[in-house]
Amino acid sequence: MALRVFKSKAEIEDQISMLKRQGIKIGFVPTMGALHKGHEALIEKSAVENDIAICSIFVNPTQFNDKKDFGNYPRNLQNDIAILDKTRCSFLFAPDETEMYEPGAKILNIDLNGLDKVMEGFHRPGHFAGVVTVVDRLFKIINPHSAYFGEKDFQQLAIIRLMASKLHPAINIVGLPTIREPDGLALSSRNQRLSNEERKNAPVIFKSMNDARASKNKITVSEIKSGVISNIESFPVFKVEYIEIADAETLKSVYDISESKNLRIFIAVQTSSVRLIDNIEF
Ligand code: AMP
Repeated sequence: MALRVFKSKAEIEDQISMLKRQGIKIGFVPTMGALHKGHEALIEKSAVENDIAICSIFVNPTQFNDKKDFGNYPRNLQNDIAILDKTRCSFLFAPDETEMYEPGAKILNIDLNGLDKVMEGFHRPGHFAGVVTVVDRLFKIINPHSAYFGEKDFQQLAIIRLMASKLHPAINIVGLPTIREPDGLALSSRNQRLSNEERKNAPVIFKSMNDARASKNKITVSEIKSGVISNIESFPVFKVEYIEIADAETLKSVYDISESKNLRIFIAVQTSSVRLIDNIEF
């Protein structure tokens, strides 16, 4: 099916209710555009597991705590449409801000069991309230059977699982592994803004996390963290904002690896103009 682009909420809702009356199964991939192979992997999975795949592109202002980051976020709808044309995505929903937020729109206020208070939530106040607000609104419009998210944003995935279990229990939330460059750097729309030197050295993030995992039974959690920080910061262009070894479900940091059997290592690194985040199973 050739890609159809919808800017209007009412129009895509009409199409979707028609499809739903025919019993068609919908898979949904919400994005902020500047599409890359990570997004494409989600779309492919959504097309395989459903009758049609729908993708949205909306750079959501309510989830940016930093106005400059919002202003600088890469936007190129024509290029994204050309990419989607080559995937099995059938509908693109690309609303503008007034379509998503009525004047005086309220931020969704739900209890996220503290998942929103640590790591990204701690360093980007209000970020996850904006994320759950927009995803809740998108879920109401698209009403998919399944929605697909990347483990690249593992904390976001955990929060969306919880939000969906409370507000959209019929929607199946699917998490998929992080797609990386051959040198290990996690694909991200923000990578476009790395300088040449930053891009060249950015694989140190993934490499340090792997080294940390390899040393997990030999040294303490605190030694592991200091090792990662000194590796990454041996490049003066990088500053580690946080590094946590945390339970994959509660996202609570551990001080000893015996505290949980299901750990992940999470990291945020500030470069001159971009913040990079990554995580792996520990
Ligand atoms: P974004 O456009 O950055 O908001 O991301 C949209 C979706 O793509 C989110 O579910 C992300 O977790 C996912 N995503 C972003 N980068 C990657 C990646 N490198 N591998 C897999 N999924 C990704």
